[in-house]
Amino acid sequence: MFPITTTIILLAGLSFFGFTIYRWVGVFQKMRSQRLEINLPERVRGLFKIAIAQSRLLSKRDFWPGLMHAVIFWGFCVISLRTITLFGMGYVEGFYLPFMHTILGDLYNLTLECVLLLVSIAIGYAFYRRIFSKPIRLTLSWEGLLILGFILTLCLTDFIFEGARMGLGEAKNPMWSPISYLLGSLMLGLPPAFLKIVSGSAYLVHLAIILVFMNFLPYGKHFHVITSLINVFLRRLRPYGALEAINLEDPNATSFGAAKLEDLTWKQILDVATCTECGRCTVSCPAWSTGKPLNPKMISVQLQEHLREQYSLLPSLILGAHAKTNGGEAATEEKFLSPHVIDPEVLWSCTTCRACEEACPVMIEYVDRIVDMRRHLVLVQGSMPVEVQTTFRNMETNSNPWGLSFDDRANWCKDMGVKTLADHPTAEVLYYVGCAGSFDDRNKKIATALVKILQKAKVDFAILGKEEGCTGDAARRIGNEYLFQSLAKTNIETMNRYNVKKVLAACPHCFNTIKNEYPQFGGNYEVMHHTDFVNQLLEEGKIKPVKPLPKRITFHDSCYLGRYNGIYDQPRNLLKSIPGAEVTEAPLSKDNGRCCGAGGGRMWMEEKIGTRVNHKRLEDLQEANPEIIASACPFCLTMLKDATHDKHLEEQIETKDVIEIVAESLG
Ligand code: SF4
Ligand code: SF4
Repeated sequence: MFPITTTIILLAGLSFFGFTIYRWVGVFQKMRSQRLEINLPERVRGLFKIAIAQSRLLSKRDFWPGLMHAVIFWGFCVISLRTITLFGMGYVEGFYLPFMHTILGDLYNLTLECVLLLVSIAIGYAFYRRIFSKPIRLTLSWEGLLILGFILTLCLTDFIFEGARMGLGEAKNPMWSPISYLLGSLMLGLPPAFLKIVSGSAYLVHLAIILVFMNFLPYGKHFHVITSLINVFLRRLRPYGALEAINLEDPNATSFGAAKLEDLTWKQILDVATCTECGRCTVSCPAWSTGKPLNPKMISVQLQEHLREQYSLLPSLILGAHAKTNGGEAATEEKFLSPHVIDPEVLWSCTTCRACEEACPVMIEYVDRIVDMRRHLVLVQGSMPVEVQTTFRNMETNSNPWGLSFDDRANWCKDMGVKTLADHPTAEVLYYVGCAGSFDDRNKKIATALVKILQKAKVDFAILGKEEGCTGDAARRIGNEYLFQSLAKTNIETMNRYNVKKVLAACPHCFNTIKNEYPQFGGNYEVMHHTDFVNQLLEEGKIKPVKPLPKRITFHDSCYLGRYNGIYDQPRNLLKSIPGAEVTEAPLSKDNGRCCGAGGGRMWMEEKIGTRVNHKRLEDLQEANPEIIASACPFCLTMLKDATHDKHLEEQIETKDVIEIVAESLG
């Protein structure tokens, strides 16, 4: 028993920890507010699945390091229970939690011994990875090694404490603690006074480390040990495809987008503070893997460094003359997030594909943060890639990024007997053709194929014709919220005037924007992507592919269809319905698929740095040995067609939309 020492350690540790958390709360309060969706059952379910069961770490990508981390996490939970007992022992000789006197206590002791051993092995593996194998996604830091050292010491001191108690004959039921028992046997015969010193020292070191560890965490990158559970619990539940709308008419607004830290929301700052620096996001990023300056992990790291520079958690008394700020006050010297902290080229490299977010074990989001910083560059600084200015102008004048006359929007179908809503206002379905289907020659063929299917299945549909406009997806993701909102509001006004209920979109970008973003401005419709819609026709027996296509077909997932909206099976079902077709899967597919390089407005930007993303994607897909690469997005098709052209593979590998393949098979 060490009641005085235990009390001093406890009081000092807990009060300093309380003080630090209070300072952190002060920092969060300085950030922009963000309302979270209330759905407690879903939040709790996610907490158990993602944080407690560590589902993302145990996914098939990078399984062994994930298992190592999971073992350390679970071990920590078991050890925490032990810590309560140890603190109790500081006051009451032989203290045990109530259930510890039962068989449950024996089982717990056995579990604890196994866990301590497994955690020690996992830590050994973690040391090996950091010091010897050095995977590209990890950054070696003294802090990481120190934290591993802390955890290992916790395990070892527990073994030594129990072992010495066994030697003294103080421990109960030694058979349930075999490793400590073994250690105790080795200590048999040592003088009891010496064993008392050993057990007492191990005990005090164990407790001291727990409290030092707890207080060290909020000051470094291992804050995630505390915040990751909270971050997972508070994760986004609203659709990922909906960027937050800016109130452009707010008379009090002095700026738009994220100019400085305080323009980010408290949840975005929690994301930044939660980053474990595991680098899973980075290795999944198509921009990083093709040599662009964008490294998502480093965005979090740089923002966290900037945050610590701007807000000190410690009082200036402790920090001395170097402290810029004190008491949660913002530093007076203001830096713009971009270009001062994050290079604009980093932001422009993002395709908004969400591969980083899908890979992140603690549910950190990047796309909204990147777009918020782009918004500041575009709307306030007027800084953007020069070619994008033309795209914006084209959207403004002709409501399409190509700048072709809006009068010609419906020319592609003038001989097909397609009605407009003006001619047929009671049509059941509005086919929203999109700019690519209306103006791009290659994509007009997909629009034509879809009409053929709809007519064959006798679907009651119409288009908007000249009344259709660009949905504004690219403008919004590039950061021009003003242009996006003006395009969106015009389209919504038109669709609402016709009392549209159901929208069919062939482009995943149109589909995502109308489905997930138009409700922000009063556009509420049932929206379906063409693969989903046509798959439903197939399942209802309204169409039946009959013409054989004995070819190997590999499907490329569009990010805005798959990762954003969970549509993975429908296009594959359609391809499997084609007689003779062999559908092969690329290793990087579905939620793990790589972007084609066109999302986030990148379709309208030059790609001058590194290798081309579409070339890299083609290489991935070639691993499935396809004769046809099928896609379901006009931009993906364009990128993949260009890649096969650049690599002189057009003869060997065709690029087609799933709908074209289905239409051809209908005969
Ligand atoms: S959204 Fe895609 S391109 Fe952007 S940082 Fe994440 S992985 Fe990289
Ligand atoms: S953002 Fe997520 S995936 Fe990326 S380094 Fe941080 S914790 Fe790892």
